[in-house]
Amino acid sequence: MDHKIAIVWFRQDLRLHDNEALTAAIKASDAILPVYVFDERVFKSQTQFGFPKTGAHRLAFVLESVADLREQLRKKGADLIVRVGKPEEVLFDLARRVGSFAVFCNRERTSEEVQVQDALEKNLWSIGQEIKYNRGKMLYYTSDLPFPVSQTPDVFTQFRKEVEKFVRVREPLPVPDAIAFPFITFEPGTLPEMSDFGWDKYTKSPKAALLFEGGETKGLERLKHYLWDTDKVKTYKLTRNELLGADYSSKFSPWLAQGCLSPKQIYHELKKYEAARGGNESTYWLFFELLWRDYFRLIGKKYGCRIFQKGGIQGVANKSWTDDRDKLFAWVLGETGIPFIDANMKELRDTGFMSNRGRQNVASFLVKDLKVNWQMGAEYFESALIDYDPCSNYGNWNYVAGVGNDPRENRYFNILSQAKRYDPDGAFVRHWLPELAALPSEMVHQPDQLSKSQQEKWQVVPGKNYPKALVSSRKWAS
Ligand SMILES: Cc1cc2nc3c(=O)[nH]c(=O)nc-3n(C[C@H](O)[C@H](O)[C@H](O)COP(=O)(O)OP(=O)(O)OC[C@H]3O[C@@H](n4cnc5c(N)ncnc54)[C@H](O)[C@@H]3O)c2cc1C
Repeated sequence: MDHKIAIVWFRQDLRLHDNEALTAAIKASDAILPVYVFDERVFKSQTQFGFPKTGAHRLAFVLESVADLREQLRKKGADLIVRVGKPEEVLFDLARRVGSFAVFCNRERTSEEVQVQDALEKNLWSIGQEIKYNRGKMLYYTSDLPFPVSQTPDVFTQFRKEVEKFVRVREPLPVPDAIAFPFITFEPGTLPEMSDFGWDKYTKSPKAALLFEGGETKGLERLKHYLWDTDKVKTYKLTRNELLGADYSSKFSPWLAQGCLSPKQIYHELKKYEAARGGNESTYWLFFELLWRDYFRLIGKKYGCRIFQKGGIQGVANKSWTDDRDKLFAWVLGETGIPFIDANMKELRDTGFMSNRGRQNVASFLVKDLKVNWQMGAEYFESALIDYDPCSNYGNWNYVAGVGNDPRENRYFNILSQAKRYDPDGAFVRHWLPELAALPSEMVHQPDQLSKSQQEKWQVVPGKNYPKALVSSRKWAS
């Protein structure tokens, strides 16, 4: 009897629930070999401007997620083969050794990921095998949309109106009951550690909004927490612009980025919640934000590599942008002398997370006030974010830099008024910049404007114990 073995290549879909590749592979085969490869180009290399391609916070999150995936697979009678290397070589080798008939995976659409899947496909063809592609990133299936991907509306509102009322979000696929695993004569492989990728002594900051832990189990727990356990989703629209604490926003993003949570699962849980406890503007708004995620993915598909290029979707780079590394690193290190920027950047560095409000402000400041090439900022985010996702990151940066398809031209953030509005008493700034703790609320966002006597009184001296401002805060005061 033919014993059909399928390989399931887990990528940014580290879950058993609603996993189309896994479900399809189980259906098509007698046994499956689940595999995860830590791609050395992703976890060991550097970006163009010299940042680690994957920073420590995201690496820790991925390691936890892979460990959880292995545990979940073992509970179902299978295992997870774990390797470090190049997926196109590792999977090819495994396919040859186990005599599989195909590799199943959820298709990626951004250039680096596509190159890897194309290279694997080519290798597999040489042994009469192929990749069977599935999908699993979005709320919507592109085939259900009322327009072809290449005709995705360029304005978000138009996209939203065309989909939200008319396109059904399909039900998530169930977790498989059992998974048949083939007989293998090689080691499943031990999980690597942070030090295998050059990171020593990693600890999570106790100052973090949330101690993110990777994996499907923790992702589903977070979903339950935000909806059923605390009803925080009911006030989401009112709190989502806050800056401190675990629950002002859902914090689903790292789990979504690694695919530990499926957006369809979130959507249907939200619908169940609304049916049981009532919906309101806030419950709708969480769905609205998930639509942004789909939208940027579609824009990424529509415009391909353009989202990564300096001229962005529009193809027009601003001539005043420079690759000024001094300014870039002042920004990265949270040493610009503008507390609202520095506090947000310290949060990112220490935890891998930053609120959406923070991200908009620091990105605008880098591009519009410091006039630094937005790609440098986007690359730093790529390195540092725990929830980095190519389409969401580069799509948002395109928007902020003014090279995307934002219908509002020249969107500019007045950093001082944003700081005063969203951090009125300076609690967020003091949390991340204890050196400014003594300043009263009315001065905490403008230490560059302290008089000599005020500097002495509160012991804050720009240039001594806090950086001199790269941009005078008076710029925004009028
Ligand atoms: C310059 C910049 C870079 C960004 N880079 C990323 C990134 O790499 N990865 C990422 O997931 N998000 C990115 N975002 C979007 C947004 O800031 C985060 O998704 C959000 O802050 C995550 O927190 P949350 O899960 O609590 O979000 P919530 O406010 O609870 O929103 C729920 C979910 O909706 C989605 N979402 C919300 N806002 C956006 C948005 N503007 N664009 C796309 N999806 C959104 C996310 O999946 C999020 O988890 C970026 C925003 C900016 C301005």
